[in-house]
Amino acid sequence: MEMDSPSQSRPPHVVIFPLPLQGHINSMIKLAELLALAGFKLTFLNSHHNHERLIKFTNIVAYFKRYPGFELKTITDGLPLDHPRSGNWFLETYEEAIKMKIKQRFREMLMNSNPPVDCVIADGFSGFAIDVANELGIPIIGFRTSSPRSFWVYYSITDIIKAGELPIRGSEDMDRLITTVPGMETYLRCRDLPSFCRKSDIEDSTVQLIVKQTRKSTEADALIFNTTDELDGPILSQIRTKCANIYPIGPLHAQLNTKLKAKHGESFDQFSNALREEDKSCIPWLDKQPYRSVIYVSFGSITSTSRDQLVELWYGLLNSKTKFLFVVRPDSVIGKDGEGEDVVKELMEKSKDRGYIVDWAPQEVVLNHQAVGGFLTHSGWNSTLESIVAGVPMVCWPYFADQQVTSRVVSRVWKIGLDMKDVCDRKIVENMVNDVMVDRKEFVNSATDMAKVINQCVSIGGSSSNNLDRLIEDIRMKRLKTTKRL
Ligand code: UDP
Repeated sequence: MEMDSPSQSRPPHVVIFPLPLQGHINSMIKLAELLALAGFKLTFLNSHHNHERLIKFTNIVAYFKRYPGFELKTITDGLPLDHPRSGNWFLETYEEAIKMKIKQRFREMLMNSNPPVDCVIADGFSGFAIDVANELGIPIIGFRTSSPRSFWVYYSITDIIKAGELPIRGSEDMDRLITTVPGMETYLRCRDLPSFCRKSDIEDSTVQLIVKQTRKSTEADALIFNTTDELDGPILSQIRTKCANIYPIGPLHAQLNTKLKAKHGESFDQFSNALREEDKSCIPWLDKQPYRSVIYVSFGSITSTSRDQLVELWYGLLNSKTKFLFVVRPDSVIGKDGEGEDVVKELMEKSKDRGYIVDWAPQEVVLNHQAVGGFLTHSGWNSTLESIVAGVPMVCWPYFADQQVTSRVVSRVWKIGLDMKDVCDRKIVENMVNDVMVDRKEFVNSATDMAKVINQCVSIGGSSSNNLDRLIEDIRMKRLKTTKRL
């Protein structure tokens, strides 16, 4: 078996392996396309289940035919195809599936690859991939698809515990500052820690798993982050003390759009990576609305609300001065079968002339629509970056994981929105929506300014564009194993 470096005559072969979750696939498939544009041979390794969904709802096979040698391969995620994969299925089953099946299948795939694999880019949450790549002598880069600041908090959890700042106790002041995350001492409060830190048992397996995976990811030859120096510079400097070679190459969707536009012109064709059917009927509805008059409401692909929370959000929106476009996935509302549907129908009836509802929106298009002036979001990292690039200020209602950190950064560090963390009350929703959309123009101004800066980063000569060029060259020139030790 040939496992040596790429010969002069063939392009480098890179395998990209995301976690089987929408937010992770989104940015990793964009990176795959960027590397394919650079002439690399790409293998995109998706779970069987997500591959089937992409085939069902997108033109993935036809789209990637335009890149010679772009291969879509599949691997198990450990569950049968017809499993609903709802709620916390990933945290509950994936670790075991790695041990039982995924690690071995991944190893076989790499060993049997022809042409041989020159570099693996694996989700930064897949420590086993580092072990397999090291065993086979293949350079490996970890890709952390969530925010670098949340990565840094996860990395620091051991120190937070040592300093006695965790676990959180019953009568805790949630607004006290956490002092043991370097670079974040002035703004990170107890309530801004990732949601998993709220468990009174800090030895809990979820917390331990995330800390373990985060620390493990710094053993990769390099790390990729979907951000820019301009957004996260101070924290990237901190992370460099643990992993010398990092590539901040985001926002990846903007980077890809810029490259596609340069190649094909304004009306370039774009791949939509939705695992659900997009309802595009919201676009003609938006076309009829005045400039920046609509708030877009979406909580990503995983977040669910209780019936009561949905009602509070809805009345807050109705009582505000703005119209709204609301994404309610069929699995968005927790409750007995059909209960979610009933409440949505009832609320929709009451707000026919104020709101529009879809199961799943073409989010990037929506955020860039001239009628959209604000985003009520769960602060998922992809959604946050998409909002920043579009210059849309946010009202943040974080649900779990890294979102608690990101919403704090949006409001306190970047000042491009408000943080509604830990409350869901119609009056507060109304006030915050009005603040961001109507009454406090400073949010629109700062979001517009930030969009200019960040779009510059992905243009030729910008920091993220340069970092992508460096990544491409380092893979091409086989420098990854050496840069690690710089
Ligand atoms: N998204 C979309 N349509 C929707 C809701 C979400 O296209 O109606 C996309 C959104 O553009 C983003 C992704 O789904 O790229 C959600 O990722 P994020 O990291 O924001 O949140 P997660 O789903 O991982 O919680």
